[in-house]
Amino acid sequence: MKKYFNFLYDAGVFRAEKIEARSIVTAPWTNYKCRYGCDFYGKSCCCPPYTPTWQETQEIIDCYEYGILFNTRNDCDAAITPLAVELTRVAFLDGYYKAIAFGSGPCLICKECSVEYCRFPKKTVPSMEGCGIDVFSTARNNGFKVEPVKERADQHNYFGLVLLE
Ligand code: SF4
Repeated sequence: MKKYFNFLYDAGVFRAEKIEARSIVTAPWTNYKCRYGCDFYGKSCCCPPYTPTWQETQEIIDCYEYGILFNTRNDCDAAITPLAVELTRVAFLDGYYKAIAFGSGPCLICKECSVEYCRFPKKTVPSMEGCGIDVFSTARNNGFKVEPVKERADQHNYFGLVLLE
């Protein structure tokens, strides 16, 4: 595990913690926020309605005991998903054959997403929030300080998650 934390901190991650999978919170309202609050809804295969529902995500989480939750701050949101994908690849090769990743925000790799299939499935994954995870509760359950951003100058936090077993 130490190797994974070194990888994340060397990449500029602000904080990373080994967490219990049961501390991850899923909720039905998350999809509503995507559907009626985000320009990317329906425009990317890494966003709802193409992503797992919160119930499906909960079923996935129930297959694991542990994960690594990590965050970056301010303008580092684009780094989260590639880090989660790469950490998952490394963990898989180390024998954690069930390792899967959740990133942050919409996938911006292509100028326009092909929507029904991903052109680069080895490079991207859906966000935690896009799969029905309540990121605020999950972060707070694990001692991360996170508040809604009110002003542009406020502290921004972005989270990624890798489930390991
Ligand atoms: S890599 Fe391209 S095709 Fe795949 S989800 Fe991202 S934008 Fe869509």
